Amino acid sequence: MQSQDNSGIDVLVSEVGPRDGLQMLARTMPTHAKLRWIEALAHAGLPEIEVGSCVSPKRLPQMADTDDVIAHAVNNTQGTVILALVPNLRGAERAFAAGAHKVTIPVSASRAHSQANLGMTPEDVIAQIRAIDALRRSWPGTKPRVEVGISTAFGCTMEGRIDEDWVIRLASMAAEAGADSVGLSDTTGMGNPAQVKRLFTALIRDLGMKAGGAHFHNTRGQGLANVVAAIDVGVTAFDSSQAGLGGCPYAPGASGNIVTEDLVFMLEAMGLHTGIDLDKLADARRILAESLPDETLYGHVPEAGLPVGFLYARS
Ligand code: ZN
Repeated sequence: MQSQDNSGIDVLVSEVGPRDGLQMLARTMPTHAKLRWIEALAHAGLPEIEVGSCVSPKRLPQMADTDDVIAHAVNNTQGTVILALVPNLRGAERAFAAGAHKVTIPVSASRAHSQANLGMTPEDVIAQIRAIDALRRSWPGTKPRVEVGISTAFGCTMEGRIDEDWVIRLASMAAEAGADSVGLSDTTGMGNPAQVKRLFTALIRDLGMKAGGAHFHNTRGQGLANVVAAIDVGVTAFDSSQAGLGGCPYAPGASGNIVTEDLVFMLEAMGLHTGIDLDKLADARRILAESLPDETLYGHVPEAGLPVGFLYARS
């Protein structure tokens, strides 16, 4: 972490709602509402926020304002790492120019998904990572960080099962190409806790310090169980989305990403310090409810409230 002292945190929660959540919605959240929401999330103590995706606005009109959102978020939050998803070198140039502290590049382990989503083979994306690493090394001033997420690592809606050795080999290729860290994403919500333990154990064994965090979707309700399984084998960074925004087109009633509020509650209740304030997170959720009045907001903790006698990990 370059702009914040996270040394006191046990588990890093990275908020991906403004990217993963909003890009799933048919409607576009107005830029001013995005900015208010991101500021409120930062105020709640989220150490890292993925604020958008530097893709073609033709492909994802919901993300057309990402460059402005990055610049505003960098200037109006303090101590929060602002990151953007980039699919290629062109996207990384945009993110760096806007001032992003960090970029995350998706590499799909499924060839069919990679072709459909990015129009590239996994090997093509590895070449893009190499080019992005070269660009950041020559970037003036503070060097942005480069993270990779292996998507469809736990299964693919098009290909079904994905070979686990291939997933880990691909992660090693991404690390060798210059990524600072490589995490695993359950893009399709197909993972289970036993699989999570196997894959992250292998990732940590092969990548060591470059083994990154987990990105789980709650499509089949396995999200928090998968988090606990990952914690058990040493994973300390998780993506989540406030209100599980975005839902899942294949599973009506299911949230999209795991819900930030539920994740933070679980971690703090387990004695793992996140630095995040659940009351302030509720303030951020209100902004979301006001700006997206027709969207379903998920989460058990926001519905039930904090239990009597609840104590944060450090209190
Ligand atoms: Zn996702």
